[in-house]
Amino acid sequence: MSGIETRCVQGGYTPGNGEPRQIPIIQSTTFKYDTSEDMGKLFDLQAEGYFYSRLQNPTCDTVAARICSLEGGTAAMLTGSGQAANFYAVFNIANAGDHVVACSAIYGGTYNLFAVTMRKMGIDFTFISPDCTDEELDAAFRPNTKALFGETIANPALTVLDIEQFAKAAHRHGVPLIVDNTFATPVNCRPFEWGADIVTHSTTKYMDGHAVAVGGVIVDSGKFDWTKYPDKFPGLCTPDDSYHGVTYTERFGLEGAYITKATAQLMRDLGSIQSPQNAYLVNLGLESLEVRMARHCENAQAVAEYLKEHEKITWVRFCGLQDDKNYALGQKYLPNGSCGVISFGVKGGRSAAEKFMKNLKLASIETHVADSKTCCLHPANATHRQMNDEELKAAGVAPDLIRFSCGLEDKDDIIEDIKKALETI
Ligand code: PLP
Repeated sequence: MSGIETRCVQGGYTPGNGEPRQIPIIQSTTFKYDTSEDMGKLFDLQAEGYFYSRLQNPTCDTVAARICSLEGGTAAMLTGSGQAANFYAVFNIANAGDHVVACSAIYGGTYNLFAVTMRKMGIDFTFISPDCTDEELDAAFRPNTKALFGETIANPALTVLDIEQFAKAAHRHGVPLIVDNTFATPVNCRPFEWGADIVTHSTTKYMDGHAVAVGGVIVDSGKFDWTKYPDKFPGLCTPDDSYHGVTYTERFGLEGAYITKATAQLMRDLGSIQSPQNAYLVNLGLESLEVRMARHCENAQAVAEYLKEHEKITWVRFCGLQDDKNYALGQKYLPNGSCGVISFGVKGGRSAAEKFMKNLKLASIETHVADSKTCCLHPANATHRQMNDEELKAAGVAPDLIRFSCGLEDKDDIIEDIKKALETI
């Protein structure tokens, strides 16, 4: 099964004779066994099977397998949110006393998770500009660095990550590159093809696509060789006492070790699995993902070109515009389009931005982004309000930045709405 369109609708699920055509929702917390011995083998990771939906559920696993197939990975795990996905992706390999390098242009919630919450847990972070040189990147690494992290298209700065540059730097220092691919989706970019090792998503965004289910996913490429650095990644390369001494890389190989550890340890101890109902809803979104992404990109291109020419617009960020500073990176990593999100500033700054947004009729003001209905947000007032001006600048978020997420409506209607709202400022 090679085409991305085919994988969107059929990947990860092949029903047998007489089985349901659509993936079944297994709404069960628990699973029945004939003997305690059968159950014991599951607890020892000696047999495959389900026993409790806090760790694994068949519906979630089917949807994870579909996303795994879209990204071209070897194993995947759904999580209860995108936040949980990024937390688990890092925490699976970094513990108290460790260090992680992250791109500074990332989603505000992820920045806060790293800079505040995970720092409290004893993991230190160095944030580095997406425009950094190789020398600056190299200088950010320490002997205890365990991962490099970035977003394919940063929310809301809309910078494009130079995945190859970041992957090479990560590998020079013997650590994996983790890429949050939420905005691009695997339809527009598959980071593993450029050297990334682990991919995360907030499935809440385009994958769901209809604003109905919060969720996340982690996908492993299976390519990073943890066994080359056993001292750096003892959690994967030495016996796990909480699982009767299993060594994940030995038992599950490079293709399965990372996700099995995340499931067996992190899901077991911390929970945060996606509900089977939500996984089912995400799956419905996945079936039309390729078709929807094309329309999101087409609408965003038209809106960005309109904004670019408008006298009341001071600046526009969208890598599909030829004079955007990331146009070349966009052409390299996102040749079929980036996403439906644009960021821009209006004349008159913060107060004009607020007035403009209030006067939009078709586009609504929402925290959310990347779904079928056009929406917008003033991040400095919402998702990024915990950052000071300096941190906002490093994250690529100007105080007047409006994040505008083009939905699936008629592009002329979206542009008309913007035109009328701009007349009021
Ligand atoms: N990663 C990115 C790029 C996001 O845009 C978001 C949310 O907006 C998240 C992660 C967090 O996802 P969730 O809201 O599903 O927890």
